[in-house]
Amino acid sequence: MDDSMRILLIGPPGSGKGTQAQLLEERLGLTHIGTGDLLREAVRNETPTGKLAKPFIERGELVPDDVVNKMVEEYFRRPDAPRDFVLDGYPRNRSQAIAYDGLANELGIDIQAVVQLQVPDDVIVERLAGRRICPVCKAVYHVSANPPRHDMVCDVEGAALVQREDDKEETIRHRLQVYHERTEALADYYRTQGKLHDVTADAPRESVYRAIVALLEQLGLEKEVRG
Ligand code: ADP
Ligand code: AMP
Repeated sequence: MDDSMRILLIGPPGSGKGTQAQLLEERLGLTHIGTGDLLREAVRNETPTGKLAKPFIERGELVPDDVVNKMVEEYFRRPDAPRDFVLDGYPRNRSQAIAYDGLANELGIDIQAVVQLQVPDDVIVERLAGRRICPVCKAVYHVSANPPRHDMVCDVEGAALVQREDDKEETIRHRLQVYHERTEALADYYRTQGKLHDVTADAPRESVYRAIVALLEQLGLEKEVRG
């Protein structure tokens, strides 16, 4: 019997996908797979993928599908690829969803549930402008809603937090526009598959987390929940 858990978080930039994926990793043991994190690491390491992706990320555009699909495929074909995971930021449009479904059929890693985090645009801009991340462990903070224990230093790593290059107001607005144009159709794709579930995410992060876990329980995935 397949007793692993594979979920996807979708929603606009700043809706809290990374934050919730991090909690699901800590508390339920799901591996957090964030394509934004993987791409930023590739940029930092100046790999061929990173060099290709950099200008798109800086402009707030989507990195071309073939580049991202290939990166994800390589990730899942590794012998140590996780069986229990939460995808964050991929698939991001219909064409990536179709590519992932092809790979998933072959590898037996179909997405069981898609959680759509819903947050109004005005809240998003405030969240992203205040976002700070740990450059070492990728932990996500917010200057006022979720500050680190000590001034601007990661609770886990002690590293100085940084602001993402693409979290400037102008780029944020462009990313939101890209989201509305390209990524919203993704919800329809998963709705048709009967996998889409909405969660109100304009609420404190613990409430959002509880709503996600309640949903997983309601879907009968609770036997896999280990926290
Ligand atoms: P995404 O991965 O969807 O882009 P993040 O998880 O990085 O979003 O969250 C964006 C910003 O909003 C971060 O600064 C994070 O600390 C903050 N944040 C996340 N969830 C909440 C919440 N429920 N309430 C307030 N701020 C939040
Ligand atoms: P995120 O960390 O999810 O906010 O992603 C940051 C940026 O990385 C996005 O604005 C895109 O430029 C790029 N990116 C991340 N995931 C994808 C994806 N699945 N497809 C295309 N571009 C992506």
